[in-house]
Amino acid sequence: MLNLDFHPSGRHFLQIPGPSPVPDRILRAMSLPTIDHRGPEFGALGRELLDKVKQVFKTANPVIIYPASGTGAWEAALSNTLSPGDQVLMFETGHFATLWHKMALRLQLAPEFIGLPGYEGWRHGVQADMIEARLKEDRDHAIKAVCVVHNETSTGVTSDIAAVRRAIDAAGHPALLLVDTISGLASADYRHDEWGVDVTISGSQKGLMLPPGISFNAVSDKAIEASRHNLMPKSFWAWDEILEANQNGYWPYTPSTNLLYGLNEALDMLLEEGLDNVLARHQRWAAGVRTAVEAWGLEIQCQDPAVYSPVLTGVVMPEGIDADAVRKIIYERFDLSLGTGLGKAKGRMFRIGHLGDCNDLTLIATLGGCEAGMKLAGVPLKGSGLAAALDYFAHHPLNSAD
Ligand SMILES: *Cc1c(COP(=O)(O)O)cnc(C)c1O
Repeated sequence: MLNLDFHPSGRHFLQIPGPSPVPDRILRAMSLPTIDHRGPEFGALGRELLDKVKQVFKTANPVIIYPASGTGAWEAALSNTLSPGDQVLMFETGHFATLWHKMALRLQLAPEFIGLPGYEGWRHGVQADMIEARLKEDRDHAIKAVCVVHNETSTGVTSDIAAVRRAIDAAGHPALLLVDTISGLASADYRHDEWGVDVTISGSQKGLMLPPGISFNAVSDKAIEASRHNLMPKSFWAWDEILEANQNGYWPYTPSTNLLYGLNEALDMLLEEGLDNVLARHQRWAAGVRTAVEAWGLEIQCQDPAVYSPVLTGVVMPEGIDADAVRKIIYERFDLSLGTGLGKAKGRMFRIGHLGDCNDLTLIATLGGCEAGMKLAGVPLKGSGLAAALDYFAHHPLNSAD
């Protein structure tokens, strides 16, 4: 039987980089009765949230919402814009970029996976100059899309999407730009229209602070045009029927009614606070957590300070220490979940999520659990990261000038 009594008192510390903790306000909104998804109240809700959600993506174009995890929205992006056999250029930044590449193969696309050699790609962001060079070689424009991950959740590295746009333009190349910001949206700066993104893919359970279960495609006019002629079979994911039904606030099939209540509430929370404030709070938390890692004398997975993730921090364990053994001690002793190392990073590092519904003291507790657990696991620490982060938060109030 499922043991739901495992956490005897207090709240579990869910500090993985998604799903992130769901605020009570959102849980309460979701607890309302499920209504008729073809009735007038639902249509009004649909119209309101389809309009509001555009602000978070920073787009004036439609945002499509699927009752699916983020992976479904990846498939939707590929299957609405491309045809079997199409060449696509993908950049290896970590585990999620790798999974998206695997999906492209399964969909019978011809993905080319470029990146920095070996493990280096997993410690840096997308190298826009490599994309530009590859596109310049592609004189007959066989490459139909460039696919990149904005916030690589497996490593804690972001990528400069504006630079990727500039690279495509500098090569004079017509390829579509498809961007996964499943874990970046509403935590890291993101601008669908300004950065000329054709399809932005996102999900509910990270910066949007919702439970898992809905995901998004923000689209450009060019992407919609491609979806009218592309040859990939698509039905559930097809944009045309959804966009048509969305005009009146409905979906062609049953949407996730209660998750949409939650989304409506989450959008209100984010817009009331102001997106700039939300982003500033994430940057500050990330800086505080990095101060702790530095004081411990440990390495951060991301090796380029210009692209440190505001969403999560990858903490590298010294040679000979299994990061998952450390995570297990922390979980069992302190009721604290940290992200595991994925793919090539397995066993080498763990990930601290600092996104969504956190505050200074939840992060201090998290860092306290990490510090105590690492000591129990025999990780040699140079000093107290907990003390360093407490100092950082105390002396860097949000909205201060410094
Ligand atoms: C979480 C995540 C995914 C996968 O989303 P699911 O909801 O698990 O399908 C893909 N890409 C990135 C960057 C993610 O953070």
